[in-house]
Amino acid sequence: MIAILPSRIAQSGYNAQTIVSEKLASADSGNPLAIGVDIGATAIKAAIVGVHGDLIETFHEPSPRTASALRDFVHSVLKCAKLPVRGIGIGCKGIIDAASSRVKSLPGDLHFLEGQLLSEVIASELPVYADNDARTALIAEVLWGAAHGRRNAVMLTLGTGVGGAVLVDGAILRGAGGAAGHLGHVTLDPRGGLCICGNYGCLETFFSSRAIESDYWAHLHRAASAKLSVGSTGHLPDTEAIFRAAAEGDESARYVLDRALEYLGAALVSFLHTFDPEILILGGSIAAAGPQLIAPIQDKIAQRSKILLGREVPIVFQKTVGYGGVAGAAGLVFLQQHFLAI
Ligand SMILES: [Zn+2]
Repeated sequence: MIAILPSRIAQSGYNAQTIVSEKLASADSGNPLAIGVDIGATAIKAAIVGVHGDLIETFHEPSPRTASALRDFVHSVLKCAKLPVRGIGIGCKGIIDAASSRVKSLPGDLHFLEGQLLSEVIASELPVYADNDARTALIAEVLWGAAHGRRNAVMLTLGTGVGGAVLVDGAILRGAGGAAGHLGHVTLDPRGGLCICGNYGCLETFFSSRAIESDYWAHLHRAASAKLSVGSTGHLPDTEAIFRAAAEGDESARYVLDRALEYLGAALVSFLHTFDPEILILGGSIAAAGPQLIAPIQDKIAQRSKILLGREVPIVFQKTVGYGGVAGAAGLVFLQQHFLAI
């Protein structure tokens, strides 16, 4: 049995490629197991997860394009479990009704799941629990990561879009229809650009890799001074390259990122004022920018929020990177069956 101790999760960044190396002495009945599944737009990941957040075995493949392909993947994972598992937890993009496991809204490549009950799709004898993927990422942080032991936390996953999840007084905020906590769709400018959600001027239209890349493209298009350019492949520079260019002194990259970060900072202040969290966690692909992401706006956020809150709220990075969503999905099983509590 191969596993990782919780203390190492924090040190290693929870990357499955680097952690599957340590033996846990008693990974048996003292360590209830669950299957965690994270359905992303491009890849599906799964793991057999122990109650300490240990990844016993990890699995991944390109995202399924049919319900039966999803079922086959999950059942192939189940077959690999050498010990009984307590249930299957699923994190998925879109609006998920956690009470029924129904996918209420899921545009894009995973549209085939819209309207489906994930428990019926999986068709297992084991109980199936499901929730939005930003929420499962937050659950992993609360159970085993940066927000361990906290009962009030806000998490943003910054990538192509912006995911959000909120923990209030120990409960994940889900709302009347499962849509609560979509922090990326808070309106920052009522006259702003069209957003994927149908609204205008959402946070996501100012701060996301899509927003940063299209803004940078606008600078190139207007012949502003810029070191990066559309290469021979025709691909636009990605967000990672734009952060790198800014660090190297590219003025356009700096301008674009300064502007995007100013909007992100304003939104974070609003979230602090709305939810009064103990901690604010940033995850997702853009979080890899590290200090470049948060250092420029940290002081401003602290100044703007200190009077109302009377304290500074720590802004930290996600610790359960890589397989965090998977571990958090398994966390749904442990929480529902009272092996763990927040
Ligand atoms: Zn929106």
